Amino acid sequence: MAEQFDLVIIGGGPGGYGAAFYAASAGLSVAIVEKDKMGGTCLNRGCIPAKAFLETAAVYRHVDHSADFGIESSAPTVNFAVAQARKQKIVDGLVKGLNGLVKARKVTLYVGSGSLGADRTVTITLDEGGEAQAQGKAVILAAGSVPRTIPNFDRGGPIMTSDEVLMLDYIPPTVAVIGGGAIGCEFASTFADLGSKVTILEGLPKILPGLDGDVANVVVRSFKKKNIDIRTGVMVTGHTPNGNGGTTVHFGPKDGESENLDVDVVIVSVGRRPYADELGLQNTGVKVSDRGFVEVDEFCRTTEDGVYAIGDLINTPALAHVGYAEAILVVKQVLGENPMPVMYDKVPWAIYCHPEVAFAGPDEEAARALGHDVVVAKHQYRGNSRAQIIGETDGLVKVIAKKNADGSAGQVLGVHMVGPWVTEQLSGGYLAVNWEATVAEVAEFIQPHPSLTELFGETMLSLTGRSLNT
Ligand SMILES: Cc1cc2nc3c(=O)[nH]c(=O)nc-3n(C[C@H](O)[C@H](O)[C@H](O)COP(=O)(O)OP(=O)(O)OC[C@H]3O[C@@H](n4cnc5c(N)ncnc54)[C@H](O)[C@@H]3O)c2cc1C
Repeated sequence: MAEQFDLVIIGGGPGGYGAAFYAASAGLSVAIVEKDKMGGTCLNRGCIPAKAFLETAAVYRHVDHSADFGIESSAPTVNFAVAQARKQKIVDGLVKGLNGLVKARKVTLYVGSGSLGADRTVTITLDEGGEAQAQGKAVILAAGSVPRTIPNFDRGGPIMTSDEVLMLDYIPPTVAVIGGGAIGCEFASTFADLGSKVTILEGLPKILPGLDGDVANVVVRSFKKKNIDIRTGVMVTGHTPNGNGGTTVHFGPKDGESENLDVDVVIVSVGRRPYADELGLQNTGVKVSDRGFVEVDEFCRTTEDGVYAIGDLINTPALAHVGYAEAILVVKQVLGENPMPVMYDKVPWAIYCHPEVAFAGPDEEAARALGHDVVVAKHQYRGNSRAQIIGETDGLVKVIAKKNADGSAGQVLGVHMVGPWVTEQLSGGYLAVNWEATVAEVAEFIQPHPSLTELFGETMLSLTGRSLNT
């Protein structure tokens, strides 16, 4: 006999645990199935460890520039084993916290691999041996994703995906990052700041595709200052181990001459693929697309009644906080409420490389492509007092607003930022975009002085046709 629950969730990442805790807080009986550690990719092999490494890189930069602030110190040296241990302590502490919440919220945790059968019944192959069954009035599939790989670059030795890189306890002297997306750029930034010679190999004409052009330019300039070699429009074809633990990467333009790059470590960062492999969906009514995503409608409903899918398993922005939002969307439906679908075109995006990037809503080009007549303002951090105080003046804030009939700036469409701590500064811009506020409304709000967020306030104010400092 299967144990009965209001909700059974497969996968204990942000999507899965978000759903479990939200549902439990609303009084539902919940079971969650996780075959590895609670926290999923984000906590164990993604967001959290990657940001812990980036913080180590930030500390290195501070110490390296401490003389500018009147603090004399010797040149910093890196003990990355300590950084690795620090990262692991943070991760372990947070995993422990999640396991504590599982108990506190009286969520039943099955440790093992779950697969879906008929009538929303999940069969769990338990880690401790044997099987268990749990039937839910609703089931959420939240099995997440795994790193994509590319032909001729099998994992092992110097060929690493994010999973292996995040376990490193030394800084490789030379690194090739294949793929100039958000995750690739975070690793490039980390290792370049910590002394590696980094080369990014990207097939597209530019790194960080999808970013506003002005924002991407700032990142590219800063990366060049860090001596990161950015090679765009190149394809990697294979590699030859060099006998010293490293390897020679072969790459070049599609129809051009091949080049060789000898490196200690290759980070393959070419995206992630949904991981439905163990869910047993072939025996169910749940459809999976050619690309491996579980197919859902705008309410995260799969093609089988009462079965939902969320997070990286579906074809929506692969972000932990999107997983949380989808979790809440589904649980509200299970509770009989009528929630609004997630507005994917307005979710917050954050890239934690140095300088950081954060945005919500369309960039200038996308806004125009959507048919909007727009007014744009952008202002640089170099004029901002707090940016000068902290010694981080590269970057800008750009606001894209609808143009009113009289030519003035109306509704805020997009807010795009690059520079110091912008991932912590986006919330005002995110609210403006999602509240569908006008420039005039947002310009009324006061920003503390001196602060980095003043630049956001000033950029909005300047769109009203008047300004203070900018
Ligand atoms: C290096 C890196 C950095 C990132 N940085 C950020 C960031 O800064 N911000 C951000 O928002 N996102 C970031 N992401 C993306 C983020 O990690 C994912 O979007 C997020 O983890 C997706 O959550 P999820 O719950 O859908 O899946 P996952 O986190 O992948 O969790 C799925 C869980 O399901 C389990 N599972 C799978 N199949 C089964 C099964 N059959 N039975 C039982 N358990 C199963 C897995 O073991 C896993 O624990 C980053 C990712 C990487 C790799």
